[in-house]
Amino acid sequence: MPSSADRVKNGQLTIDGVSATESAVPVDAQEMADVLAEAAALGKAVTPIGGGTALTLGNPPERVDVALSTERLAGIIDYEPTDLVLSVGAGARFGDVQAVLAEHGQRLPLDPPGAGDATIGGLIATGRWGPLRYSAGTLRDLLIGISVAHPSGTVSKAGGMVVKNVSGYDMPRLYLGSLGTLGVVVSANFKVLPRPRAEATVIASYDDLLAAFAAASQLRGGRDPIAALEALFLNSGWALATHIEGRDETVDAVARRIVSGAAGDVTRLDEQESAGWWSAYVDQQHLAQADNAVLVRCGVRPKETAALASTIIDEMSELAISVPYLAASPGLGTVVARLDLGGAGSQEGLAKVQGALLSLADSVTILAAPPSWKRGIDVWGRLPEGFDVMQALRQQFDPERTINPGRFAGFL
Ligand SMILES: Cc1cc2nc3c(=O)[nH]c(=O)nc-3n(C[C@H](O)[C@H](O)[C@H](O)COP(=O)(O)OP(=O)(O)OC[C@H]3O[C@@H](n4cnc5c(N)ncnc54)[C@H](O)[C@@H]3O)c2cc1C
Repeated sequence: MPSSADRVKNGQLTIDGVSATESAVPVDAQEMADVLAEAAALGKAVTPIGGGTALTLGNPPERVDVALSTERLAGIIDYEPTDLVLSVGAGARFGDVQAVLAEHGQRLPLDPPGAGDATIGGLIATGRWGPLRYSAGTLRDLLIGISVAHPSGTVSKAGGMVVKNVSGYDMPRLYLGSLGTLGVVVSANFKVLPRPRAEATVIASYDDLLAAFAAASQLRGGRDPIAALEALFLNSGWALATHIEGRDETVDAVARRIVSGAAGDVTRLDEQESAGWWSAYVDQQHLAQADNAVLVRCGVRPKETAALASTIIDEMSELAISVPYLAASPGLGTVVARLDLGGAGSQEGLAKVQGALLSLADSVTILAAPPSWKRGIDVWGRLPEGFDVMQALRQQFDPERTINPGRFAGFL
């Protein structure tokens, strides 16, 4: 993949229709902070670039002057397999980090899309999670320390390399999902976990959504080692995908039991096939897949997930919008849907869809949509709780709005 500097030189680094004109590839944290300070003094806007897999997430940027790459901050800084802790540069690719951990039978239990190209800094900045959250939680549960470069020209550190860090306010987590608005992550420390010995996935078809969710409830009520559980609406049919991880015999026994209890079509995938299926599954949720497709994520309390999934399908049908793909996470209260707006495809049409979804769900994020439709719409939906605190922090950490201006909630 060409570097972000090369992409700027060739005029290819364009984010939601706005092109970067300069690039910087700092070699260490202080140089990163110096670039930010210089940009702030000159009133330039900076976009941090990691793997470049999620640059369209957020509101279209107000401006992009400098593309600031983290690619030279890509090393493993410290890894203590016996203590289950890892310190790594923000530019390290997730896939490379997992490969190093795998040599010691360990992993970061995260499932980002993009075949491992996402960087550690990008993962922290976007704060997204995938199906594995069902069993493993989110980055919030793994992040124990962080270093961040700020437009003041300083580098701050928070947390450390110990898992139980009880030092007052949890600063590392402040940066999670803040989309770079408080600084550029230069390195992060994590607790890591042992890899499961075996895995399998069972995909069972159901007549309707209620039957799929009834099966999910039964599984959730048991004690099986279920890593992820997702209900899928694809090609007008429902399926439940159950990801099982653990010891070989347990995984085999649970997979057999689910297969034998299934009433409709059922498929069992083992090891590589199972891993491949989940990686394709998260990629499917990441890419809009077709020109003009819209991807949204809605959230409610977990017990309301089935009702949300079904009302989204009904409500979109009322608006003459088709839903070619919908995935619901029964244990997490999340629904991701791909929408085809057809003739209603425009900024106005997208605003109408967002309004309809906001009346159904507690949170609604437009993950992907054509840039011209996104303009003027806050893709993050309702302002998050504590937005005034976020604004105050932005003012304190980045008063000139140097990093990613306009991209985050409330056009921060
Ligand atoms: C539609 C969609 C679906 C997704 N689904 C999932 C999922 O199912 N599971 C999951 O785990 N993740 C998911 N993600 C997040 C995904 O993992 C991102 O692709 C990844 O985190 C981005 O890494 P990257 O290095 O490619 O970041 P980039 O694409 O380079 O950057 C992404 C954003 O982070 C900022 N950024 C990058 N590096 C830094 C840094 N060091 N400091 C501060 N800001 C920085 C950028 O400016 C940009 O705004 C999803 C993202 C999108 C858009």
